[in-house]
Amino acid sequence: MIYSDSHIHCSVYDSWQPFENSPVCSAAHSEKEWEKLCLLKKQYPGLIYTSFGVHPQNPDHSLVFTLEKILKTQHPDAVGEAGFDLFTTEYKENIKKQEDVWYAQLELAQQYNKPLIIHCRKALDKIFASSAQLRTLKAVVFHSYSYSPEEAASLRKKGINAYFSFGKPLLNNHKNALRCASLLPLEWMLLETDGPYQTLKDELMTIPADIFSVYTQLSSLRSIRVEDLNQVNINFMNVYSSSFE
Ligand SMILES: [Zn+2]
Repeated sequence: MIYSDSHIHCSVYDSWQPFENSPVCSAAHSEKEWEKLCLLKKQYPGLIYTSFGVHPQNPDHSLVFTLEKILKTQHPDAVGEAGFDLFTTEYKENIKKQEDVWYAQLELAQQYNKPLIIHCRKALDKIFASSAQLRTLKAVVFHSYSYSPEEAASLRKKGINAYFSFGKPLLNNHKNALRCASLLPLEWMLLETDGPYQTLKDELMTIPADIFSVYTQLSSLRSIRVEDLNQVNINFMNVYSSSFE
């Protein structure tokens, strides 16, 4: 059994190592993180899929040019995290900048035929407003999806090839994540750590091995064996592999 991790930040660790030879998709959000990620990818061939994005918490337009340069020459497997974060007043003040980098990244994901990894807090209406463009993308991954299963179904109904990724909130009794975990079709689901972030109480960081607890938790919520979650790995490959076309 492998335990694919659809969203992690490998280059943020002092020293990252894979868990049980399982693949990850790692996001980078600066040129420095990207360079470190490329070195790790060489060190662990076949285990690291890469993504570069302009995070809504740092909607710096100059990073759009970095993304474009990377897309042109280095073939990342995905674009993101990209999206909206309206969780705090501080982030909300940046809404215009968030919109600016969002639309730029939507276009680039489309132009280079890459899946898009979405970070979205308190802004699902913004995502729905971009349905027409999202529908044209090969896949859209909602990382740490925090909305309801009904909203997930309606995103799918819009014709978006959407996948919903769940991580440590499943271990933290997050109400919507738990409902999604038992109600969504496995064909729509991915699992993640978002490591080293999204720590639980009293944890210093999220470690790569935490992906195992996420798989175990989903299997127990659905009353199936962990081995029966292999569909999640199939989804991972469908989204991230052979995006270089
Ligand atoms: Zn993240």
